[in-house]
Amino acid sequence: MKKSYLMTPGPTPIPEEIRLEMAKPIIHHRTKEYQAIFKDATEGLKKIFKTSNDIYTFTSSGTGAMEASITNVLSPGDKIIVVRGGKFGERFSEIAGAYGVNVVNIDIEWGTSPEPEAIKEVLKKNPDAKGVYTTLCETSTATVYDIKLIGEIVRATNALFVVDVISGLGADDFENDAWGVDIAICGSQKGLMIPPGLAFSSVSQKAWKAVETSKLPKFYFNFKKYKKAYLNTDTPFTSAITLVIGLKRAVETINMEGIDKVIARHKKLALAVREAANAIGLEIFSKSPSSAVTAVNAPKGIDADNIIKLLKTEFGVTFAGGQENLKGKIFRVAHMGGIDEEHTLESIKALEQALAKLGYKFKQGAALAAAEKALTPT
Ligand SMILES: *Cc1c(COP(=O)(O)O)cnc(C)c1O
Repeated sequence: MKKSYLMTPGPTPIPEEIRLEMAKPIIHHRTKEYQAIFKDATEGLKKIFKTSNDIYTFTSSGTGAMEASITNVLSPGDKIIVVRGGKFGERFSEIAGAYGVNVVNIDIEWGTSPEPEAIKEVLKKNPDAKGVYTTLCETSTATVYDIKLIGEIVRATNALFVVDVISGLGADDFENDAWGVDIAICGSQKGLMIPPGLAFSSVSQKAWKAVETSKLPKFYFNFKKYKKAYLNTDTPFTSAITLVIGLKRAVETINMEGIDKVIARHKKLALAVREAANAIGLEIFSKSPSSAVTAVNAPKGIDADNIIKLLKTEFGVTFAGGQENLKGKIFRVAHMGGIDEEHTLESIKALEQALAKLGYKFKQGAALAAAEKALTPT
């Protein structure tokens, strides 16, 4: 079978030892055996989030936990502030709108990160805002936001600080507690190296106060139900047993290496791709590039989607495209989770060949050499 390289920002490749773990016969979830697995998985996740807060596990894609971060702490007519710099910032606004929450959007140019001072200003003008909703890595533009600095600003107010870390966790620096994050939202199919289907939410004491008074409708994603079950190392509904078994193994793998080392490795892969692109005259789209995923501008006159198509059909390499107004303009290469140096170098090799086939003029081999250099241990 021809090798294939899944280089998309979710789903990401799943290491063999995790796949095999999930292939074992299923067990029942209301058992001591499963409880021990669920506990280990949750405790392991807390180390990766760098939090001592509870982390609840939902059976849903990441968006389920995004919705929960709105329905569990707000009431109809409440006001929140949302940073919109891409598809995922937009999603918070859309969910809030669906529930009758008033949204003050901070619209920033795609590919840039928000100025902490701008958030401070908007908070000052809207002292009644119940929360600031933002993203660690805005995956659609491959941009990392300065969550630490924003956290210092939000912490001094009554507003909750809600951060979508779905793609950034395990790739970009993140410290839930030290950075004052009240609710961090994650999903299973990116840096955590398991299939789609689980979503996670950390919940701080400050957030719990808001949960007590929240009046928005909720049933499946009700934090109170999850907390009650959590105290008994349980979930309120049937656990996604197989995925949680995979999660336990995945967080063990991450924590064995150490989360800081895992992040350092992602930074190196991201640097290698940026250096490779630059070496053949391609520009990086983001002004604040993430280490979870890199967006590269397609060369003038070449549609990024044609590069992606050729990579897929002829080289077995899957890159992601751009969304909305970035469609055809950028291609996105992920660094998350199980993506390693081999995947990255093979993808760059294939990219060079695809670009040459599409008529782009550059010094062949230069991208690969630059990536290899960036990956050389110092
Ligand atoms: C992938 C992703 C999501 C979640 O999307 P789902 O398809 O619901 O899992 C949300 N936010 C960001 C930043 C993401 O990268």
